[in-house]
Amino acid sequence: VKAAGLDLGGTNVKVCLLDYGEAPRVVERRSAETHAERGPEAVMDVLAGLAADAIAAAGAVQAVGLGAPGPLDLERGRSLWMPNLPGWNNVPIVAEMEARLGRRVALINDSRALTLAELELGAGRGCRDLVCFALGTGVGGGVVVNGQLLLGLNGTAGELGHQTIDPEGRRCGCGNRGCLEQEASGPAIARAGGRATAEAVLEAARSGDERALAAFERAGAKLGIAIANAVLTVGPDRVVVGGGVAAAGELLLRPAREELVRRDRVQPVERVEVVAATLGSYAGAIGAALWAASRIRT
Ligand SMILES: [Zn+2]
Repeated sequence: VKAAGLDLGGTNVKVCLLDYGEAPRVVERRSAETHAERGPEAVMDVLAGLAADAIAAAGAVQAVGLGAPGPLDLERGRSLWMPNLPGWNNVPIVAEMEARLGRRVALINDSRALTLAELELGAGRGCRDLVCFALGTGVGGGVVVNGQLLLGLNGTAGELGHQTIDPEGRRCGCGNRGCLEQEASGPAIARAGGRATAEAVLEAARSGDERALAAFERAGAKLGIAIANAVLTVGPDRVVVGGGVAAAGELLLRPAREELVRRDRVQPVERVEVVAATLGSYAGAIGAALWAASRIRT
């Protein structure tokens, strides 16, 4: 019994196939360049082509899930806008993908998909209550309560990257000021570290560059404030930090833990683990497959 998970990212689109018997496992991974500049129709063609090939090779796929960035209208199956993909305002993404694939498609926000994947197969395994941060080009998140992914108002629960960290901070793509995303996303770290990308800042930090180290220290501390806010709200067993920026590991997580302890004085925060995600760059696709599988089983 298999489910397919599709992940629509700004740089790459990915597809995975999940065999979800007693212990779900990934049996296939494929990716292609997004070419976001070509617009939604072309991007959906690429993603659907990738998925159709994988599904045809696998046979017997029961469910298809799609993880997409940005605010979505889950009830109507639409993207409202996508911060890092031009031209995706109000695209009926579910209907478009269903037409291309000839199958039902279950839509979920990409960071919520990552959360679900880490909960069931990654760093969040065994947790009853979990908070996840996804740090990449943007910053997303997800919350699990009593073993269930929290959806909230039209699937928007867990938008942890758009909590205000600095009331007078930088203007965010969402329209607010001082969001966590403006402090701890890849572009924010690149800016603070004076390099083209967060990866370049990480490389510099590893060879002892002071400005690069300070950039991670600062981003980690800001992330720690956001973690403290989420921990106060949810009281989770564990906080998982994923996305490309999480490759920085302890450079980011140590200052985040220190800030959590400094900010949250009313909970036993020493019992809250703050750990890196373990599923890597296919977490979103894996989560989308799990989401689709859960939809058809209920
Ligand atoms: Zn924002």
